[in-house]
Amino acid sequence: MNYNKKTVRDIDVKGKKVLLRCDFNVPMAKDGSGVITDDKRIRAALPTIQYLLEQGAAVIACSHMGKPKGEVKPELSLKPVAVRLGELLGQEIGMAADVVGPDAQAKAAALQPGQILLLENTRFEKGETKNDPDLAKAMASMAEVYVSDAFGAVHRAHASTAGVAEYLPAVSGFLIQKELDFIGGALANPKRPLVAILGGSKVSSKIGVINNLLEIADTIIIGGGMAYTFSAAQGGAVGDSLLEADWKDYSLEMIQKAKDKGVKLLLPVDTVCADAFAPDAKSQVVRAGEIPDGWEGLDIGPETVKLYCDAVKDAGTVIWNGPMGVFEFPAFAKGTEAVAEALSKTSAITIIGGGDSAAAVQQLGYADKMTHISTGGGASLEFMEGKELPGVACLLDK
Ligand code: ADP
Ligand code: MG
Repeated sequence: MNYNKKTVRDIDVKGKKVLLRCDFNVPMAKDGSGVITDDKRIRAALPTIQYLLEQGAAVIACSHMGKPKGEVKPELSLKPVAVRLGELLGQEIGMAADVVGPDAQAKAAALQPGQILLLENTRFEKGETKNDPDLAKAMASMAEVYVSDAFGAVHRAHASTAGVAEYLPAVSGFLIQKELDFIGGALANPKRPLVAILGGSKVSSKIGVINNLLEIADTIIIGGGMAYTFSAAQGGAVGDSLLEADWKDYSLEMIQKAKDKGVKLLLPVDTVCADAFAPDAKSQVVRAGEIPDGWEGLDIGPETVKLYCDAVKDAGTVIWNGPMGVFEFPAFAKGTEAVAEALSKTSAITIIGGGDSAAAVQQLGYADKMTHISTGGGASLEFMEGKELPGVACLLDK
C-alpha cells in the first residue's frame, strides 16, 4: 500500500466547503446524561479543524458514534460533541438534525468560511456501514473537498470513510498523516534494526501481525498470553495458561520461518505464574515450559525482562503491540512496565499500536516518552498486518 498521501497542506481549501471525517466516537456516561467521559478524541481533531478554518474553509464535520445500526438513537446523538467542540474552539458549532437530510443540506448550503457544522451520527444512516454510493454521493454533494482524519475508522470501507472519496478530491488531516508517517514509515523504510515486540492475549488475533512483521523485522519478541502456545508447541508444560491448541503448529511454523529468514525470535525463558486469574492470586516465578498443574502464566519473568530490555537497547525502531502480561492486575504488570520503561530510554523510534497496548503505556505513565502512540486500535492492527486500509487507499497519492 502507498502511504504517501496528499494532506490538507497539498490542497487549496480557501473559500471551499470541506467535508471532514473525524473520529468523535467518544465514551459517554452510561446514565444517558449526555456527559462525555473522555474528550481526548475531540481534542485530537483540533489541529486539523483549526488549520482548515485558518485557511478560510467552511468545515462540515462528521463522525460515527457507537453502533446505532442505521437507526436514529437519541442517546448516540453527536449533540454533546458539538457542545464540547464549541467549548474547545471557542466558537459556536452548528448542529444538523440529520446526516444528509433537509436540515443538513440547508445548514451546509448556508455555511460560511470560518464556520463549522457538525452532521448527525453517520451511522444513523443505514447506508453508512454498507458504503452505499447514494449516501456517499449525498454527503459529497454538500462539499467540495473531503478531508479524512478519522484514523480509528480507516480500516472500514464505509460511506463516510471511503465512499465519499469517489466524488471529491480526498486528502488526509494531520492525525492520519502522523499515523502514515510513523507506522507507514516503520513498515516501509524502518531505521534498523527493527525490533517488533508482540504480546497480548491470543496468537489467533495476532497471526496477521506476526506474519507481516516476520517479513520486515530484524528481531521479534514474543510475550503475553500467546507465548504459552509457542511454549506448548515446543513440548513445554503450560498448566492452566492461555493456550490455543489449534495454533501450536502455526507457532512451530513461525519459529522455523524466523530461522529461515534470519530473523531473531525471542521467546520467554521464565514466567510469573499464579494459582488463579485474580489480582491477589498467589504467584511464583518458574522456568518457561515448566508451569505446574493448576497454575497459569500471567506475566513474563525477571530473566525474560532482562533479555527483552537488552534487545531494544540498540534498536533503530521498535514496534510494540500487545502487553507482556495481565497488566490490568498490578502484581502482573511488571513485565509490561519494564518493557515500557526500556522503550522510554532507548534512542530508537518507538511506536505503540493496539488499543490495550496504548492503554497500558498510558496507565503506566510512559505515554509522553514514546515517539508515536497510535490512536486507532483495530486500524493500527490492520496497518501492522500490512493490509490495505480503505480509508487511506481512497486518498489522493502525493
Ligand atoms: P492490543 O489491544 O494492544 O492489540 P490485545 O488485545 O492483543 O492487545 O491483548 C491485551 C490483553 O492481553 C490484555 O487485556 C491482557 O490482560 C491480556 N494478556 C496479556 N498477557 C496475558 C496472559 N499471560 N494471560 C492472559 N491474558 C493476557
Ligand atoms: Mg485489544
